[in-house]
Amino acid sequence: MPQDWKFSDDYYRCSANVLEIALSQVAAYKSWQVFDPGREYPVDTRYTAMPVLTKNDIREHFPQGFLPSDRDVNCGLTSGEIEFVETSGTVNDSVTNIWNQKWWDASERASWRLNSHANRIATGNHREAILANPVSVGFVSDNSDLPMEKRRLSRFLFLDEKTDPASWSSELMDRMIKELGIFKPAVFEAKPSMLARLCRYIAACNKTVFQPGLIVLTYEYPTNFNYRQIRQAFDVPIASSYGTTETGYVFMQCEEGKFHQNSEFCRVDFQPLKSEHGGPFLGRILVTTFNNPWYYMVRFDVGDLVRIDEIGRCSCGRDSGMILSAIEGRVANVTLTGTGRLVSLRELDDTLSVLEGVDEYRLEQVAIDGYNLHLVSRRPDKHGLSEEASEILKRLYGKEAKVSVVYEDTISPESSGKYHISRALFPIEIETYLDKTYVFGKSHRSV
Ligand SMILES: [Zn+2]
Repeated sequence: MPQDWKFSDDYYRCSANVLEIALSQVAAYKSWQVFDPGREYPVDTRYTAMPVLTKNDIREHFPQGFLPSDRDVNCGLTSGEIEFVETSGTVNDSVTNIWNQKWWDASERASWRLNSHANRIATGNHREAILANPVSVGFVSDNSDLPMEKRRLSRFLFLDEKTDPASWSSELMDRMIKELGIFKPAVFEAKPSMLARLCRYIAACNKTVFQPGLIVLTYEYPTNFNYRQIRQAFDVPIASSYGTTETGYVFMQCEEGKFHQNSEFCRVDFQPLKSEHGGPFLGRILVTTFNNPWYYMVRFDVGDLVRIDEIGRCSCGRDSGMILSAIEGRVANVTLTGTGRLVSLRELDDTLSVLEGVDEYRLEQVAIDGYNLHLVSRRPDKHGLSEEASEILKRLYGKEAKVSVVYEDTISPESSGKYHISRALFPIEIETYLDKTYVFGKSHRSV
C-alpha cells in the first residue's frame, strides 16, 4: 500500500475532533464508545477500530441522533440553516438526510481546487447548466414542457424536466442544444448517461453545440461508451466528481485524470478487498465528514468501490490526501465470475468497451453461471455483435458462462432515476470479500 500520502495537521485534528464529539455527544455513536481503544492511540487506529455507519443506522437515529446533544434540529430547521432531503433510490436505498446548503457549497468549492480547470472557471457565481434526472435535482414536469425561465434557479439552468430520458423527443434535445447556446454556461454538470444520449443525437444529426469551459460528470459511473459519445460532441476538459448527498464532495478528478480526496471536508477510510478479488488496491471507502455541525457522518458506507493509485503520486503535483486511479462503481453493481471472483463495474465496463457501435448496455447476472446482456446498438450485424459480446464475457466470467444477448430500443432508468448498468440478481455481501488484515493507508496488521 502507498506509504506516502500526505495529510495536513488539520486533517488529523478534524479527524480527532469529529470522533471525540461523535462518541461523547452524538446519540447515533453512543454504542461505538466500547470500540474506542482510547485517546493514547493514533487517530487512524481509533477509526479503524470503529464500526461502519449504514443507511439503516441513519434511518434509525434520524434526525436528532446525528447532532451533538447541545444542538437542536428544530432550531436549524426554523432558522433555515438546514432542511431535510430525501435521496432517490429503491425502498431499501432511499434515505432522508439533513441538508446544510452552506456546508455543501463550501465542500463543493474546496473540490474545485482539485482540478485546475474548475479552479480557474468556477468562481462561485459562474453560470452552470445541469443535465440530471429531475427526480434527483431540478423540476419535474412529465406532462407539459417547462419554459426555460421555469427551470432557472439562481446561477443554474436545469436542461431537462422529464423523468425518463428514454422518452426524450428530438424537439426536446433541440431545445437543450439551443438553451446551451443562449445560456452559455461556464460549467456543464451532467449525468453521463444522459449527456451521452444528447451527444448521440448531436452526432447523428451533425449538429454543433455550445462548448462550455468544463464538463463535470457526476451522479453515476461514467462508462467508456459514455465518454466516447460525449467526445463526439464536446472538445472541452471533462472532470468526474465523486460525492454523495450524505457526505458532500469526496473525490475530484484532476486535469491529469487521477482522483484527489477533498481532504479539507472529509476523512476517507479505505478497506481493501482480498487479493483474489482485486485487493489490496481495490476496496470500499468509508467517509467521515468535517466541519458540518448539523450532521455527523462517521465512517459512512457510501456503497462504492475505488482503486487506490499504485504509485501514490500524481503529475499534477497535488499531494494532500488519498489519490485514486479510478472510481470502480457501486457495490450494487458487482457481479461474480463462475469461480466466484468479484468483478467491479469498471472491470466489466473496460471489458465491454472494445465492442463497436454500442449505445448503451445493461448486464444482469441471473445465476452464478448465467448472464443477460441487454444492448442498444444501431449496428446492422446483430449476430456478429452477439458473438463478439458473448466471447468477451466468457473470457471475463469463465467459459462455462451462459450468456444471452438481448437487444433493446433504449434502456430506461428505474423509477428512482438511477440506472443499474450491472447487477447480480442474488445477494452479494461485500463484507465477506474484504481483507480484514489491512489497515487504512498502512501495511501493519490491524489490532
Ligand atoms: Zn492530480
